[in-house]
Order: sequence, then structure tokens, then C-alpha cells
Amino acid sequence: MLKKLKMPIRNEVEEALLIALFKHNGVIKEFGSSEEIVAEIADDFGLNEEQRSAYLKTIYRKENRVKKSSLWHRLLFRAADALAKEKYVSRPTQTLKLMNKREWMLTESGFDKALALLNIPASKKEFLPTKSYEVQKIVKKLHETKRPKDYNPFDKKKKVVKVSKETTLRTRGFRQAIIEAYDCKCSVCGLKIYSPDTLSWEVEAAHIVPHRANGKDDIWNGIALCHLHHWAFDVGWFTLLNNYTVQISSREDSLPSDFGKVGNYELLKSIYNDSRISLPGRKEIYPHKNAMNWHRENIFHQ
Ligand SMILES: [Zn+2]
Repeated sequence: MLKKLKMPIRNEVEEALLIALFKHNGVIKEFGSSEEIVAEIADDFGLNEEQRSAYLKTIYRKENRVKKSSLWHRLLFRAADALAKEKYVSRPTQTLKLMNKREWMLTESGFDKALALLNIPASKKEFLPTKSYEVQKIVKKLHETKRPKDYNPFDKKKKVVKVSKETTLRTRGFRQAIIEAYDCKCSVCGLKIYSPDTLSWEVEAAHIVPHRANGKDDIWNGIALCHLHHWAFDVGWFTLLNNYTVQISSREDSLPSDFGKVGNYELLKSIYNDSRISLPGRKEIYPHKNAMNWHRENIFHQ
């Protein structure tokens, strides 16, 4: 039946699935519950109506009934199952435990394989918001760890600078956790935009105590900022008070009048002293005062 209908072979379906996962930021719904993704991959192969609607009959002798199943669904499932066996994707049952959603999700090695298939250099991985099972585990931990009363934002263990796979995963987890918590928006100006291919967000996860001062990759040591406000925060043009309002450096008054302008937009004047930043939904993951105190004392220029 397969030959007669000229269905794509499993290897091709596996590759198409990895690419579809990558295009959907690392996750796609379980096939049973989403016709969209099933149709989308069928479109990629240019399947005709006959191929899409073909079904298989299975006779259950014991129960004396015939079960019909869609051939295309079955091919997709088989390919996903093979990818899961090779640990390129997590199964919907595994993902459900992590994300509360029945989805197939790329693993780190599945992510690498998708990049290779698309000829995207592995060095770009850092900047893509693609979800991977391993990174999502870290995101979940960052979101769910109980907020400490007296938080220490410094990582004492990091004196030996070593870029290991673990640190990279942790940094990507931090970035994703912050961007998600702040709804992909700059917490100061509210800018929310992604690239035309929808693969990367403009917003950045800024450390309050930076890495160079041994700042930790914790949700209490981060805020989401657009590129411009990230830079202005890192050089001390503004800081945060413990009530989450912005304080701008008084040195702003001595800036030449044509400085800090993008057309009519004034980088610093457009954020007012005392205005409150946009914060995540849960107080538990707000920036911690110990990190903000450090920024005020060490980075901010009064
Ligand atoms: Zn901004």
C-alpha cells in the first residue's frame, strides 16, 4: 500500500519533523490533537488528497472489529517514535510532566541535528529561543525554586572561568526563563518584537549583578530589557529602587541636547524617574533587592 501511494519514506519524515519542530520553536502538539501540524508537514511534502486521506484497516479478531487509522498520521507517529528512541525528541508523555502539555519537544541533540539539516551554524544556538527538553527543565527549576529571604546573587564557585556545556545550558535556561516571565517585553519601555522569521526575540535577559561580577543565572538576578535599555542599565544610566521604580542618573542633565535621541524618541527622558517597571505575574520571581542594591551601589551613576 505504501508503494502504491508513494508515501514519503520514514527517514524523510523524520527529517521533516525535526525541521518542523525547529520552525515551531522546538515544540509541536501531539498529532492526535492537532490537525494543523499534520497538514503542515503534509504540505511540505506536497501530498495529494489521496495520500492525506488514505487509511489502514486493522482487524481485531478477538474483539471482532475493524479499526481504521490514517496512514499519514501513522507515518508521522512512527517517525516521531523513532526520533524519541534515538533521544532526538521527548515524547508527549515526558513533555506533559515538564510543561503540562502533550507535545513533542526537541532535545539538545535533536536541536543540533535540526540546525545541521538547515545548515545553520551551531554557534547560533545560543541566540535562538528554540525550546529544548534540557533547557526547559532548567527554566522550570528557575521558575519554581522558592524565593529565598536573604538571597545571595553572587556565584562563589565561578572563580575559575570555564565554559562547559552545563554553563551554556544554564545561561540559555536563564535567558528563556526571564523572557517568558516578562512576556517577551522590555520591562522599561514595553518594546515587544521578534525577527521576521519569528525565530528570535529582540528583548534580552539582563543580569542585575553581571557575570563579570560573578552574578548568578537566577530569575531574581534578572530583568527583560530591549537592547538599548540593556546597554543603559549595564553602564549605569539608570537603576532600580526596591519598590521597582526607575531612577535615572542626574548626569543626564549635562548631556548635549542632540544626545540619546532616535528621531523624537529620547532614550533616557522617555523613561521617567519613579515610573514602575513591568513585572512578571508572580511576586515570587520579581528581582531581588539584594541584587538591585548591588547595582545601585556598584553600577549606577547618581
Ligand atoms: Zn526598552
